[in-house]
Amino acid sequence: MAPKHVVFLGPPGTGKGTQAVRLEQRCGWKALSSGDMMRAEIAAGSELGNKAAEYVNNGRLVPDEIITGVILGALDRVPKSLGWVLDGFPRTVPQAEALDKGLLAEHAKIDAVVNLDLDDHKIVERLITRRICKECGALYNIRFQPPRQDGVCDRCGGEVVQRADDREDVIRTRLATYREQTAPLIAYYTQRGLLQSVDADDTVEKVQTAIEQALGCGKQSE
Ligand code: AMP
Repeated sequence: MAPKHVVFLGPPGTGKGTQAVRLEQRCGWKALSSGDMMRAEIAAGSELGNKAAEYVNNGRLVPDEIITGVILGALDRVPKSLGWVLDGFPRTVPQAEALDKGLLAEHAKIDAVVNLDLDDHKIVERLITRRICKECGALYNIRFQPPRQDGVCDRCGGEVVQRADDREDVIRTRLATYREQTAPLIAYYTQRGLLQSVDADDTVEKVQTAIEQALGCGKQSE
């Protein structure tokens, strides 16, 4: 599969993280999650993590200059032969502009933007039942996709917990932040002819198939 540069757009809880990992497994494009990177920095207690913590834990966006440096650095480390899928970045128009500029300097570009669509009430329902492995970041949902043993990660045996920002009050802040600061990216990428919307209100497998069809990779190309 030819390497591609893909951006996942959409509010929190629409399955971007789950689908980015699946796309990496199926199509070989490296999945990079800005949220995972921030959580790893916070868990490590780094200077950057300490700065980011108050934003992340309260459902607000980490300042553009902090996150943009982290992401452009991570993209630079992905071998050019692989391609990548960005989950959670960009989240503001200045971030999207910085990404375009960074890619231009490398003679690279975004090939597609997948926008995952879901109603707010379904997002809240999904996020309050979402759980994450503290060690490896594997995602679960206590209603739809629980770990085999309560509180224990199937993949690595790590502790499965609720994210600090998956509490209902913080979820509301995150949704408002999305509408104000991230939703304008729909127009930004539509104008560039890159946006493809996918209905996220379906099973993980069906959404995966729709994404792979949109991108011309995975199941439909077998
Ligand atoms: P996520 O796991 O994608 O929901 O991200 C969790 C949190 O990390 C967000 O609520 C923000 O506080 C922070 N974060 C992740 N990506 C970005 C970004 N592109 N810009 C600013 N903050 C971000």
